[in-house]
Amino acid sequence: METKRKLRVATTSLAGCFGCHMSFLDIDEHLFELVELIEFDRSPLTDIKVVGDCDLGIIEGGLCNAENVHILREFRARCTKLVALGACAVNGGLPAQRNHLKLTEILEEVYHTSPGLAHGLIPNDPELPLPLNKVHPLHEVVKIDWFIPGCPPSGEAIWKALTDIVAGRDPELGFGTLHYD
Ligand code: SF4
Repeated sequence: METKRKLRVATTSLAGCFGCHMSFLDIDEHLFELVELIEFDRSPLTDIKVVGDCDLGIIEGGLCNAENVHILREFRARCTKLVALGACAVNGGLPAQRNHLKLTEILEEVYHTSPGLAHGLIPNDPELPLPLNKVHPLHEVVKIDWFIPGCPPSGEAIWKALTDIVAGRDPELGFGTLHYD
């Protein structure tokens, strides 16, 4: 009997809080079905360091620094389809509230002038990714195939979207699973 090829899936968190990944795990007992349908490539759930050729990339978080942009471009190059998972990926989310402030002033306040800091200095090691002036949603940098809103999207919504994708359909979230909060 021919066994169906599993979908190869990579996931990552950029300027996210890992809440969307936690919600992914909220599919609970469906995780047993999931491992029959997909196999994970690079993901916070695996130890794979570099994204390989994948059918699907699932990305939580928007873009707040240069490393985020680099990883996003790698995902776009390697994954046939990309999902923006959660409010941060879809529209920048709550972290984009910093777009109302000047980046230099934020860094000054957090690392330099905040009370209680001893000789505070803004970190300048070249190992650290440079922050972007503004937080951006993913679609401003690469093409995104599907958007799943919610902060986070529910486990039910993620499971519905995944089963649609595995079946070769565009994911469709109906009333009750589609929300933005
Ligand atoms: S959408 Fe919400 S849960 Fe998901 S990464 Fe952003 S803040 Fe976290």
